[in-house]
Amino acid sequence: MENTITGHTRLAALFATPIRHSVSPMIQNTAFQALGIDAVYLAFEVGTDGLEQAIDSIKNLEMIGANLSMPNKILAVEYMDELSEAARLIGAVNTITNDHGKLTGHNTDGTGFMRSLKDIDVDIIGKKITIIGAGGAATAIIVQAALDGVKEITVYNRKDEFYDKIKEKLAYISENTNCTITLHDLADENSLAKNVAESALLLNATGVGMKPLEEQTPIQDFSIIRPDLAVCDVIYTPRETEFLKQARLRGAKTNNGLGMLLYQGAAAFEKWTGQEMPIEIVKPIIE
Ligand code: NAD
Repeated sequence: MENTITGHTRLAALFATPIRHSVSPMIQNTAFQALGIDAVYLAFEVGTDGLEQAIDSIKNLEMIGANLSMPNKILAVEYMDELSEAARLIGAVNTITNDHGKLTGHNTDGTGFMRSLKDIDVDIIGKKITIIGAGGAATAIIVQAALDGVKEITVYNRKDEFYDKIKEKLAYISENTNCTITLHDLADENSLAKNVAESALLLNATGVGMKPLEEQTPIQDFSIIRPDLAVCDVIYTPRETEFLKQARLRGAKTNNGLGMLLYQGAAAFEKWTGQEMPIEIVKPIIE
């Protein structure tokens, strides 16, 4: 392989743990090479204990920027000089840009998901959608959908110890956007059926459907699925969860979480380089 690293090569990084399974280095380095950008992207095993130092190194090493994943996205908010509107409302950062030492925290998970809908030719702007789950992935999508002009979001979560906190958080997001957002108990199947009947999209934003829950589905009654409903999953391993399979068998347009993964990376790349990621080159390596 030709060595392209020189004294000028700049660094972008991913700070997370566990990290060795990540496909982000493949995505970003393929894009840097394809566009002839003199930069490399490396994954560093960093947890919350080492996060402040790792973020300091973005300034000290004049890095292009960084991505953050588990468990660092929420804590990183404290170390930013500025936050994008989405990162502020979500309360989590997955992308850091470095403007001559000024670090800005962004969150591209939600924009990644919104862009992935274009791949299945689905438009939810001005419409109502239903989301199952209210954790990190769901919150990023809820905020971005609200900022982009989705009219109403009904969120379904199990009634666990986080339920009341989630309710407060969703009320805050709703007050700060033009979107009506309400929280409901996932066990209330009648309410779910009624809201899905009025929705353009049903999204699973929980881990139900991936290991160790790969045989489970986040809903039990699939009669609520109709051919003009878009059905998406944030999960991409397996590529088709049982939830997506059942929805596809009922004629719905479906999409897994690969697009969200790819386009959150593309949005970060575009913030760092000012150039569009060459999706047609990058997409095949993660499919
Ligand atoms: P999280 O722990 O922050 O939230 C998990 C959510 O799932 C919560 O709302 C929780 O109540 C719900 N949940 C968990 N187990 C459940 C069960 N048995 N029944 C009903 N609800 C249940 O996790 P997260 O970071 O939001 O990740 C959620 C999923 O999203 C994971 O599968 C993760 O791999 C995926 N994800 C995908 C992308 C992507 O780019 N495609 C990005 C981030 C996360």
